[in-house]
Amino acid sequence: MFKSTAPVIARYSGISKVLAFRYAGPGTIFLLHSVVPDTTSYPEEFTRCPVSVLEDTLAWLKDNKVQFVSLDTALDRLATPAVDRFCVFTFDDGYADNLTHVLPIMERFGAPFTVYVTTGMITGEIDTCWWFGLAALIRSRNNLALPELGYSFDCTDAASKKQAFAAITALVESNGEALASVRTALDANGIDGRSIVRGEGLTIEQLRRLAASPLVTIGAHSVRHIRLPRVSVAEVQREMADGRAWLENIVQREVKHFAYPFGACGHREAQIAQSVGFRTSVTTQRGTLFPEHLGHLYALPREPIISKETASSLRCKIDGTYRAFHSRLGDPVAHM
Ligand SMILES: [Zn+2]
Repeated sequence: MFKSTAPVIARYSGISKVLAFRYAGPGTIFLLHSVVPDTTSYPEEFTRCPVSVLEDTLAWLKDNKVQFVSLDTALDRLATPAVDRFCVFTFDDGYADNLTHVLPIMERFGAPFTVYVTTGMITGEIDTCWWFGLAALIRSRNNLALPELGYSFDCTDAASKKQAFAAITALVESNGEALASVRTALDANGIDGRSIVRGEGLTIEQLRRLAASPLVTIGAHSVRHIRLPRVSVAEVQREMADGRAWLENIVQREVKHFAYPFGACGHREAQIAQSVGFRTSVTTQRGTLFPEHLGHLYALPREPIISKETASSLRCKIDGTYRAFHSRLGDPVAHM
């Protein structure tokens, strides 16, 4: 869905300016995951952003007088709207590169940011993050067969590897048996997803160093990174409360904010997030922040920063153009 050029066309044709009157709220929360020097060798496009794109994004926002604020400050701004526009940077999952690559860049721009940590990424005790193994498998092969499903994927170059990864993850989403087939392929090729997760995630020491930065807010992102709407109320409560308690013990600070894994959520998850004591939860719904979001604190929208970001696409994001398209010119205020 991020390959759609419609919003960029809208920008060039001036439609974006018209839409901005209705869809541009004063603030935008941006969503990223891992930031690496070069994304060429990574088949998982959505979760990898090049260092240069993050730097260019920050520079463009600064040039366009969009202020960098923390999540808590953003909420204050919504309560007392100011003239200046603002943005919040968030990074999901808890990648080690959030310390090694992201922090130095954000320090250079004086930009606060939130890291939503899946505690299983740090402890390495989860086997639910199968996509790390899938990415490693695709990187190492020229062809990947899932014979149980009757599929075979060409993985000979960077483009076909990205296509194969996108196709297989879509398959897992739509077909309950596909995940078993992916796991069989990982086992057959000796790929240990847990050790890859441990290598990608922050260590406890790195998490403490990240949390010690005055620019950084640590948020929670569950224990196992599972789709919360698919499990029981008790499990959702455990994923939220246990993840937060573990993080608070490590960083010795209150953890007030939550991000739904995969952005998967509904009214039930929003109510549980509130009942376990979070101040806000973020989704992956498209849109900008409006003062009305103070009444929808458990469904705050975010705009992803992608590897092919441009000045036009960024303008569309802060102007709410994507919200206009995704909602089919519906409510500018994204909520449950
Ligand atoms: Zn995540």
